[in-house]
Amino acid sequence: MLLLKNADIYGPAPVGRADILAAGGRIVALEPGIRIPDSYVETFDAAGLIAVPGFIDGHVHITGGGGEGGYATRTPELVLSDAIRGGVTTIVGCLGTDGVTRSLAALLAKARGLDAEGISTFMYTGYYAVPVRTLTGSIEQDLLLIDKIVGVGEVALSDHRSTQPTFDEFARLAAEARRGGILSGKAGVVNVHMGDGRRGLSLLRRILDETEIPPTQLLPTHVNRNPTLFQEAIAYAKTGGQVDLTTSTVPAFLEEGEVACGRGLCAMLDAGVDASLITFTSDGQGSIPDFDEQGRLRGLQVGRVTSLFAAVRDAVLQARVPLATALQVVTANPARILKLRGKGELAAGADADIVLLEPETLEINGVIARGRWLMKTREVVAKGTFE
Ligand code: ZN
Repeated sequence: MLLLKNADIYGPAPVGRADILAAGGRIVALEPGIRIPDSYVETFDAAGLIAVPGFIDGHVHITGGGGEGGYATRTPELVLSDAIRGGVTTIVGCLGTDGVTRSLAALLAKARGLDAEGISTFMYTGYYAVPVRTLTGSIEQDLLLIDKIVGVGEVALSDHRSTQPTFDEFARLAAEARRGGILSGKAGVVNVHMGDGRRGLSLLRRILDETEIPPTQLLPTHVNRNPTLFQEAIAYAKTGGQVDLTTSTVPAFLEEGEVACGRGLCAMLDAGVDASLITFTSDGQGSIPDFDEQGRLRGLQVGRVTSLFAAVRDAVLQARVPLATALQVVTANPARILKLRGKGELAAGADADIVLLEPETLEINGVIARGRWLMKTREVVAKGTFE
């Protein structure tokens, strides 16, 4: 058992000063003045710290991604301490462009490995291509038979690397994800990789206009990648569509017009988008090609899971978004959209996934996953098997 005393709690809505008692990996009580004899519990004085739900990163290439500049550019796997440093206690793993040398079997094994090392993991079936390659033969079967699979993605649209699926193909895929989701009690969300192409979100809008599939089934990502797509995403979200902004970036992309997530969140809220429809994900371990002014490939960088909370911090400290609202996009919103029960909130009955933040700077001071310390007083205290 672990008792956190006197933290300033955002659950993510502001709760005020209270104690959190965790036992068996869950929060069993959250109220002021909890008293338990020291012989039964580890007591930690969190006075002066802010306690928030552990972050959910819903789009991470945990087995590595990339390879778009040849075999030598395949990016490495995620290691546990990457997630810990970013305060990420729940990850949804996915494949990307490469569904040949990266497999769903490897993704499932990696997800299980990270789970055994101490964080919570889920995954998407499929990759960029349509028809999608699945683990058991169909999206529906994967959702029904594999516990960790919560949806399908990242399916590429409006991108030169996509399989150029037709509307009918895409609609059938979304329908299958919906049916599998309903039958398994999961979200069955279609995570859609958006490219820079002119067609933008048109296929998603047609799903909403021409089929019975509700907007909750679709989650387009990378919508901040250029100003045109970003404006289209604002309009899409104002009609009830869910949208995901990608936090991993490099300065060159921002100079070319990519919308930084902190500023992007602020702009969406100012435009009247319902905050509950917005999520951030890191695209962690994906490749980020870095070009110089002449457009020459200078090198490749790897997306970082730590960019997730860095973007939330920017939203609060620079774009002046209220802390509770900014936290929502990496806690309560992804938990609801992806139906991750017990995740994304601090409340009695929820999983004991907790991040402690320092006030003013919002630096990560502590990370607890399922009741176990992974980072304590700024020191990473848990390691992956081979770290
Ligand atoms: Zn992508």
